[in-house]
Amino acid sequence: MTKISILACKITGDRCAGAGCLRAVRERNKAFADYGPDTELIAMWRCNGCGHFIADDEGLKKKADRLLDLGVEYLHISHCAKKKDTKEPCPEIEGVAAYLQTKGVKIVRGTH
Ligand code: SF4
Repeated sequence: MTKISILACKITGDRCAGAGCLRAVRERNKAFADYGPDTELIAMWRCNGCGHFIADDEGLKKKADRLLDLGVEYLHISHCAKKKDTKEPCPEIEGVAAYLQTKGVKIVRGTH
């Protein structure tokens, strides 16, 4: 069993149901093409908003730690998790990715 998770943008979540990400997982295409049938999406979650970094946001760290408790192996960062003005990766998201990476989680950029 391979355990994967998707991290997306809180702002985008106001207008996105995540259907495209979930379809790509279900159909094993796009960024999920290499996963086998025994792959489980254990969480689809969002950041806690701009300016909320894992180092000082207890809730955000709690969400990341919950994934670790569940044995997550891969974290997919959705394309929406970028600064809307510059399209650069959000440091808030990168902080989460770096934290999980130090715990052995593999980081994958993109979903669909
Ligand atoms: S930090 Fe980035 S991913 Fe999170 S809400 Fe702000 S723009 Fe979206």
